[in-house]
Parts: sequence; structure tokens; C-alpha cells
Amino acid sequence: MSALARIPFARAEHDPTGSCVRDGERVLDNATFATDVRRLARQLGDLGVAPGDTVAVMLPNCAEIITTMFAAWHRGSALTPVNAVLTDDEARYQLQDSAAAVLVGDERARELAASVGIAWLDAASIHTGHSAPEPDDGPVATAEDFALIIYTSGTTGRPKGVLLDHANLDAMSASLVEHFSLTSADTSLLVLPLFHANGLIAGTLAPLRAGGDVVVAPRFSPDTFWDLVETHRPTYFSAVPTIYAVLEARTERAVDTSSLRFLVCGAAPMPAELIVRFEERFGVPVVEGYGLSESSVASNINPLDGPRKPGTVGIALPGQEVAVVSSSGEQLPPGARGEVVIRGANVMRGYLGRPEETAKVIRDGWLHTGDVGIIDEDGYLSIVDRIKDLIIRGGENIYPKEIEECLYAHPAVLEAAVVGRPDAVLGEVPVAYVAPRPGHVVTSEELHAHCAERLARYKVPAEFEVRTELPKNSVGKLVKGLLREPSQV
Ligand code: AMP
Repeated sequence: MSALARIPFARAEHDPTGSCVRDGERVLDNATFATDVRRLARQLGDLGVAPGDTVAVMLPNCAEIITTMFAAWHRGSALTPVNAVLTDDEARYQLQDSAAAVLVGDERARELAASVGIAWLDAASIHTGHSAPEPDDGPVATAEDFALIIYTSGTTGRPKGVLLDHANLDAMSASLVEHFSLTSADTSLLVLPLFHANGLIAGTLAPLRAGGDVVVAPRFSPDTFWDLVETHRPTYFSAVPTIYAVLEARTERAVDTSSLRFLVCGAAPMPAELIVRFEERFGVPVVEGYGLSESSVASNINPLDGPRKPGTVGIALPGQEVAVVSSSGEQLPPGARGEVVIRGANVMRGYLGRPEETAKVIRDGWLHTGDVGIIDEDGYLSIVDRIKDLIIRGGENIYPKEIEECLYAHPAVLEAAVVGRPDAVLGEVPVAYVAPRPGHVVTSEELHAHCAERLARYKVPAEFEVRTELPKNSVGKLVKGLLREPSQV
């Protein structure tokens, strides 16, 4: 048994030694990758990281995030990946909420770690670190040990840590390997961010489990994207609708897509006509899927070996049950509209430190998603609406409540409401409506500057509108629906 087979991600079938991770020009062969993981595990141990602890990593997409994940697991610890575009306050919130023991990252991470009083480990030392690799007798996690803590706001306001254990990841990656018939001949091109379950689980663990390769792409650019495909010859990638829209609109040259077996899209609704246009132009099947961090990423995906139905998110993945229920929790027949619920070994353990929030979303073993869907006679799910207050901008989730709280912190703001406005490229963008306190004047520019200072750039509303008052219903509750239709106000 090789050294990496002892990585707690688990038993031999997950052994990533049969695979390699490539990062732009660098190719980490199995042996290099294994050595990096064990060396980093030793460095983490030297810093006092113990089984049950949490390791945080904050880097733009690169292979070191994957190395850190396996190294944390090698020590029996969990990984919490931090989005590198968060502001200092947003990042500090995650570090503290997850009780991270150490932050792996660059110079900025060093300052952040110091400001919350935790250890810092220089990501640059992963390949060059002085420590000898950890011997093959490090702590080994069990299926119930926490593996990933992914931050999302779920169905309500503040970001929460979704706790995924090794059993969740085992179930999810097995399900994806089966659905896509992944083998050692597959190579995943990682386009999506590695602070999200999609990149880490669907883009990384599933192909590694099948013995395939992972190529970590640098930041997406339509000008260089096809060069990556032609150079690294991936068999698939997963991306958000905005990326497909940009590639379709901006690709002028002929491209060699012959290595690609299939493409996956998800995270936000994908227009059916875009799937059809993309497939015609590039000659590769595009399958739309659906899921959430709380379900370890994917629950439904269109099949590769059966009929694909553009406009739907496909059938339930192996090992999962997906249903739609009425507001009283009754399962509804095909064709009826209701809340999407999911049951299976992929459903999270809960939200870190928030038992009440967990109890609200996991009831009788079913995960309540806050999404509204319809399942047809053949078992294909369509997502038609959301119960939860969420805006998806270019595949990135934005929780209006977080922006509203930021606006309420401005001394001149009496009321604030943030809603999504349709956008041709990004799907939706946030727009803020604000009513000032009596006797105060506030401008859109001031509000923009206030938000830009406190929120990651992608969350800053595209527009701020100051109104004397915001629309309310008869009991005085703010009605966001009326803001989405300005003519009715
Ligand atoms: P996250 O936890 O960041 O993965 O976000 C999950 C949410 O994204 C889901 O609850 C849905 O609201 C939304 N979502 C994911 N995939 C799709 C899709 N294919 N169509 C529509 N909404 C989606």
C-alpha cells in the first residue's frame, strides 16, 4: 500500500496516487504530489494541528489548495477553504466561526492569521519546505470525521459552515463516478473555484477517485480557455452558465474539442437555447445539473447514457432520493410544483455550531433546499423558483440579507432592500433600494463606497436607488416583489 492510501479520505478506492494534479505549466506527478501532501502534513503537525482541528486555506485557484486538503485529512483534520476575494472582515469571520487552527496562504493570509491570533503557514513552502515528509503512520480519520467546512448562507442570512464528513464525500464522489462512468482515462479541467464544493468534490475528488487526472486552470479568461483545453486535453469540465455564454459569444477561432467527452453546467439556471447553441457550435454534450453545498454539491444531473432534457436539471444521482413536497411536507405527484427535498448519504451533517438552523433544513432525514421544482413523469427535475432569498450572479451566490445588513450599518439609512435584476450575461445582479432617515440625505455614490469597503466586490450592488420610502404591505412588511417591478411602486 502506498503512502497516500493512508490519507483519511480513505480506503484504497480513493487512493489518489494513481492520478496526478496539473497546475498550469506544472505537472505534479503522483510521487511529487504524495510527497508534498506528507510534507505539509508534517508542517501542520509541527504547528500543533491535531485530529479534529480545522485547517483553513486562502489562495486563488491552484494545486496547493488540493495539497492542503489532503494534508489536513492526513492529520485527521477538516479543511475550510476561504474565498480569496473576501474582504478582511469577511475572511476573519470565517476563520473565527470555523475555529481554524492555522491558515495556509500568502502574505495577506499571514496578516489575517495574525489578526485573529492563529498560526500561518506559507503556501510557498509546500514544495520547498524544510520538513521531511510525514511518515506513513500519521493519524487516520474515520468516515464520521469532518472533512470539509464550506461556507454558504443556506436558506437564511449570515454565512454558515456546512459540515461534510468523509462519508458524505465518499457517497458524493461515488455517485458522480457512476453517473459519468469516470475512469482513469478521464481528466477534469478545474474551472470553478476551489472554495466551493463543486470544485473540490465534483471537479477534484470524483476524478481522483476514478484514478483520473485534475488540471487546475488559472482564472477563467475566454481568450486563453481553449488553449488550456487543447494543451491539457481534458475529457470534461464543469462551469456556470455565464462561462458558457461568454465562450459561445467570444470564441472566434476554430477550437479542437476532440478530447472532451461531456461538459457540466450548474449553480444557476442555464437557458435551454444556450445549451443547444453551445452543443451545435462545439460538438460536445452539455449536461445541466443541480445541487447545493448542503447536499455535498450535486443531486440531479442530466444523463449521458439516456435522454437529455435541456431546461431540466436531470435525474436524481445514484444513491439519492429527490422529491418535491407541499408546504405541509407531503410528497407531491409528477407535474406538481413544490419545495425540492433530498435524502441520501450525501446530505451534510449540519451547520457548524448551529443546531437550530440545521433542524430547520433537515427534517425527518430530508434536506429542505429552499428551491421550488417540478418532477416530470420520467423523473426529470426542473427548478422553477426559489423560496430562499438568494441572488445568483454569474454562478456566485449573493445573500441579499448580508448586503442589507451592511447598508443598515450606514448612519443615514432607514430602510434597505436588495433584489436581483435579470442580466443578459451574469444571469442576475443585485440592486439596492434605500430609504434615508428623516432629515438625512444619502447619495448612490456614498452607498456604493460604503458597500465596496465592507463587501467582496462581487456582492456590491450594480445599482443603488434612493427612494423616500420602500413599498410595504398592509401590516407594514417590506414587499420585495414590488421593487422588482418598478412600475408598480
Ligand atoms: P451552493 O450551496 O452555493 O451550491 O448554492 C446552491 C443553490 O444554487 C441551490 O440551492 C439553487 O438555488 C442554486 N442552483 C444550483 N444549481 C442550479 C441550477 N441548475 N438551476 C437553478 N438554480 C441552481
